[in-house]
Amino acid sequence: MINADIDITEQDAANTAALIQERTFLQHIIDGIDNPIMVIAQDYRLIRMNQAAKRQARERKRPLQSLHCYELLYGSDKPCSELGRECPLAEVFAQGCSTKVVHLIEEPGTEQSYELSASPLRDDQDRIFGIIEIAHDISEQLVIAAELRRSELIVLRLSQYDLLTSLPNRLLFADRLSEGLAEARRHQARLAVMIVDLDRFKQINDCFDHQDGDEILKAVAGRLQQLVGEHETLARLGGDEFGLIPAPFQTKDEPARFAERIHEALQPPFILHGQRVLVGASIGIALYPDQGHTADDLLRKADAALYSAKAEGGKTAHFFTEQLTTAARDRLVLEASLQEALERDEFELYYQPQIDLRIGQLYGIEALVRWRHPERGLVSPVTFIPLAEESGLINPLGDWGLRTACQQMQAWRVAGVVAPTTSISVNLSTRQFEQRDLAQKIINILEQSELAPEVLEIEITESTVMQSPHRSIDCLHLLRQAGIRVAVDDFGTGYSSMSYLKRLPLTKLKIDRSFVSDIPEDLNDAAIVRAIIALGTSLSLELLAEGIETQEQQAFLLNEGCSLGQGYLFAKPLPAEDFVHFATRIGQASSPAGGPAGEQATQV
Ligand code: C2E
Ligand code: CA
Ligand code: CA
Repeated sequence: MINADIDITEQDAANTAALIQERTFLQHIIDGIDNPIMVIAQDYRLIRMNQAAKRQARERKRPLQSLHCYELLYGSDKPCSELGRECPLAEVFAQGCSTKVVHLIEEPGTEQSYELSASPLRDDQDRIFGIIEIAHDISEQLVIAAELRRSELIVLRLSQYDLLTSLPNRLLFADRLSEGLAEARRHQARLAVMIVDLDRFKQINDCFDHQDGDEILKAVAGRLQQLVGEHETLARLGGDEFGLIPAPFQTKDEPARFAERIHEALQPPFILHGQRVLVGASIGIALYPDQGHTADDLLRKADAALYSAKAEGGKTAHFFTEQLTTAARDRLVLEASLQEALERDEFELYYQPQIDLRIGQLYGIEALVRWRHPERGLVSPVTFIPLAEESGLINPLGDWGLRTACQQMQAWRVAGVVAPTTSISVNLSTRQFEQRDLAQKIINILEQSELAPEVLEIEITESTVMQSPHRSIDCLHLLRQAGIRVAVDDFGTGYSSMSYLKRLPLTKLKIDRSFVSDIPEDLNDAAIVRAIIALGTSLSLELLAEGIETQEQQAFLLNEGCSLGQGYLFAKPLPAEDFVHFATRIGQASSPAGGPAGEQATQV
């Protein structure tokens, strides 16, 4: 017995030692965890805790014995539930399972958030008599999460709104349109989609700087905003294009009237640097359900209507019609075939004579490009030059035009078709000026053709110069140094500033056809023509009037001091062969008498 007793005692001692070792081991583990871990009885008393929890108790200067969980965590004298905080202990007892709650602890100068994970502590009969709670400081994660949410919101805003005008962008517009359509479907209402595009905005952008262009866009957005109500949408679709979804309408006059109000709102001039700037707009309208059912479809149709409004010269609104789809498709097909036109040798130059009005003789020739389309026949440059500019084809096309004109001119000079002093003018488009080596390229082409530089004239428009004044001034100086002449085309239609005009090495102003067509009856036009002539004369420039169609126009111009002219009165642009006939006829008219061609020539 005694032996057995001893045995049992030894066994106990060994077991106890193992237990202590096990407990110490477990304690080390939980002490090794940085988060406070607490074992809490039903009356909130802490039965056990790890080092992190003890440290917190010491920081709060609380005794470790008979400490309550709320004293440890919050230094509070009342349980959380009495302070309106969710109590993990109460939760576990109520639900019989683990739970998680988040507590915000505000103390002077700090604000901390804890996530408390609590699990039930059960006795041998599986009854819950307390909880094990781990407190996890999640303040930093919350700050990061808040930051993330904020940047998400910013990104969301950026992805839906236009930075310049703060209006919804194209994406949000499409969303709103889809929502509007769904709503209209439910209520069997009719909805209009409008695209508003500013007329000749590119010219404004070219003539002023981009910041000024932005100011105008903001001001336009402001005026349009005044027209839309709370449940209507105005968006900036990009560039100078705005989208509008007015409230549902009953009859078609309503969207038409809305468009009128847009035109009226844009009527008063905008003021830029003390200068009045007029901004017109073209509007395309598509209607639901009459013309389409989806946002995509309606937008495409409003766009086709817009294009047709533009083609009419702007300042109008067009509703979509089925014919427009065909026209838009046509345009795409044309654009595609334009790419191959140069390789297929489908371009031709036509030549329009420029006449010295005083003596009725050929003074110069303007080369004008034509596209002989295999199916459509002759396509006007008014149609394809803008397409070529968009696609960049204008550069190789421009080179081809210049080379062909120079070679043709040299051939005519050699053959005696034209006098040695007769000039040849070639149009340059704005996009070509973006090429840094443009001047050298022109000079090279000229040299290869062996044409004398003095007879080559390039025609540029005011907006080309104003787009990048410094670069174009440099380029023009190089051309002038090489002996090439420089004319300003369509003069009077742009916004060129006098200060630039004076600095440009120009040789000629071409008075735009729009001023010539109604003289001498239209007194305004007559006054403008007089002013341009006075300006050109004071700058010692040659003056040429475009689009002369009548004897009266010619007489008026000559009388006012404009000595050069071009127009159907003398000849339309002619294919090379026909031009030779024309030149020979003019030559014959002047040569027998050996003197000036006189009136006969102007009768051609
Ligand atoms: P533009 O340089 O102002 O050319 C004058 C336009 O007026 C020509 O139209 C010509 O046919 C037309 N015209 C001439 N006299 C009269 C007239 O008495 N009455 C009327 N109603 N019209 C007249 P076209 O040839 O259709 O050219 C249109 C525009 O296309 C040109 O305007 C020019 O800006 C551009 N263009 C033509 N060829 C070229 C080219 O080779 N390169 C570039 N970049 N542009 C070109
Ligand atoms: Ca021209
Ligand atoms: Ca012109």
